[in-house]
Amino acid sequence: MLQLQSFTVGPFAENPYLIACGSTGQALLIDPGDEAEMLWREVRDAGLTLSAIVLTHAHLDHVGAVEAIRQQTSVPVYLHPDDDPLLAQVVEQGRMFGLRCDPVAPADRPLAHGQQLRCGELELQVLHTPGHSPGSVCLYLPAEAVLIAGDTLFHRGVGRTDLPGGDARTLIRSISEQLWPLPDQVQVYPGHGPTTTIGEERRLNPFVGAQARWAR
Ligand SMILES: [Zn+2]
Ligand SMILES: [Zn+2]
Repeated sequence: MLQLQSFTVGPFAENPYLIACGSTGQALLIDPGDEAEMLWREVRDAGLTLSAIVLTHAHLDHVGAVEAIRQQTSVPVYLHPDDDPLLAQVVEQGRMFGLRCDPVAPADRPLAHGQQLRCGELELQVLHTPGHSPGSVCLYLPAEAVLIAGDTLFHRGVGRTDLPGGDARTLIRSISEQLWPLPDQVQVYPGHGPTTTIGEERRLNPFVGAQARWAR
């Protein structure tokens, strides 16, 4: 049984997600971007056992609370290696936005396309969806029809591609080839903004949905 809690943190209104297996209490924290204390308190108060931090990508707004949470617990941090350089440049990323960011240590374990992550009885499939950043991934829970989309797909939007390593064509291809084949009813939990579904976005997304002209 999936327990999913969403939060919105920091100056970029980023959405971290806490995913837990209802029967074992094992949990994953996805994209802890800011407010480490609050996020850690939520994990503790819920009586959950955190088994890993999983990053959908390494932009500063998704990684700001990683180090502080790492100090509370020794769980591994997962990231696709194509975003390792971005993680190493968090301080410089902050400078681009006029923000002071502390460095983040390298990820502990690599994510790869097709990899299965386990969290108690839950199974998450890693989909490599580059475009917003080279190492962007989405996390798909087929049994629960849930997709954690990072900054790849938003409600009626897609991730920006003008940051270093971003590429619009690659993003459109990732969404068309990796996400559109998923069932209509899959709930999409994005890195920013409200949830949506695959079916809705496949029809109505103005950038890469059925009605998008420039995507072809
Ligand atoms: Zn991003
Ligand atoms: Zn973001």
